[in-house]
Amino acid sequence: MKIALITGIAGQDGAYLAKFLLKKNYKVVGLDRRSSRDDKWRLEYLDIRNQVNIEYADLVEINSIYRIFKKYKINEVYNLGAQSDVASSFTTPITTSDINALGTIRILEIIKDLDKNIKFYQASSSEMYGRVLQKKQNEKTPFNPISPYAISKLFSYYITKNYRESYNMFACNGILFNHESPIRGEEFVTRKITTTLAKIAVGKSECLYLGNIYSKRDWGYAGDYVEAIWKMLQQKKPLDYVISTGKTYSVKEFVTLAGSFLGMKISWKGKGHREVGIDKKSNRVIIRIDKKFYRPADISYLIGDSKKAKKDLKWKPKTNLNNLVKMMCEADLKKYR
Ligand code: NDP
Ligand code: GDP
Repeated sequence: MKIALITGIAGQDGAYLAKFLLKKNYKVVGLDRRSSRDDKWRLEYLDIRNQVNIEYADLVEINSIYRIFKKYKINEVYNLGAQSDVASSFTTPITTSDINALGTIRILEIIKDLDKNIKFYQASSSEMYGRVLQKKQNEKTPFNPISPYAISKLFSYYITKNYRESYNMFACNGILFNHESPIRGEEFVTRKITTTLAKIAVGKSECLYLGNIYSKRDWGYAGDYVEAIWKMLQQKKPLDYVISTGKTYSVKEFVTLAGSFLGMKISWKGKGHREVGIDKKSNRVIIRIDKKFYRPADISYLIGDSKKAKKDLKWKPKTNLNNLVKMMCEADLKKYR
């Protein structure tokens, strides 16, 4: 039985990946940091809370990570743990870098010294492309990061590549474009939209406040993406892969679509921060712009090209935006009804 260590197991991808690996008959060890709140709700949602071995440790403390490697004979490491919120990285850039950048090298150092046969996956991000330098972004597109989050992830991207090349380690980067689900954190725009619109639909909220609604993202489904993550570690050679859908939509389009699944007919009026979304059925303004959600620097456009993953990994996304938004709206409606 293979043993996988997932850092960030209590997060969105950690939970989906754990479920996926359990089905593949892995023993799953999850690194989680202790919290005063019970934050295993995603593992409970996927009904796997009691099937994974949770080990308390912190990516900022190397000894705590090392102890897990001593306790289990780990075959594969999936480094998903991170301060993953771009907006928060502007307020906590140092902590973000400690976790996201140095956290990675802490694990790589342990693997290098302990057992170089352990395979390593690094959760890299499309945010590294930043102010994009190519219309569609693939593995060869130059990076141009514009947030502390993206810069911390870029360090991890390069250090993973560096350990692969310098020490002959099986270490790869998945450059994943945004991926969402009913268990996505509510601070991210997609889930913020589906939760708030679901609450409005059942009379538990009045209005959804957003920042830059013209921002475009390539949104996929997290459940599809964890399969690509696993496949990367099953290849003969460790390589880096872009994982995306190849389609891009604006936040505004996402809102309109979510509204349609929640029985609303949203039309838009006005410009700039005065733009509003009106539900034609109730004739109420239900979306407004709040400048506090604008970022000091924001990526306006991302769209991925996953040809390499399609060819080598035989992977392609199964869920389109329509089905993803429907799934998220139905789950949130059920939750708030
Ligand atoms: P989440 O934010 O849902 O999960 C991240 C997890 O990391 C949380 O459980 C968090 O714990 C944990 N974590 C944070 N800091 C530490 C620490 N110091 N020590 C140990 N654990 C820690 O992110 P996702 O599941 O969405 O993403 C998984 C990974 O993929 C992340 O690295 C993210 O940056 C990256 N990524 C995600 C994309 C996406 O669209 N989802 C796109 C591209 C990359 P806590 O709850 O305590 O904060
Ligand atoms: P990101 O791509 O990792 O930053 O994922 P997010 O879901 O946090 O943001 C996606 C895009 O939505 C960014 O360009 C944001 O500026 C934009 N956006 C607009 N309004 C909001 C909002 O209220 N919250 C968040 N999180 N993003 C918003």
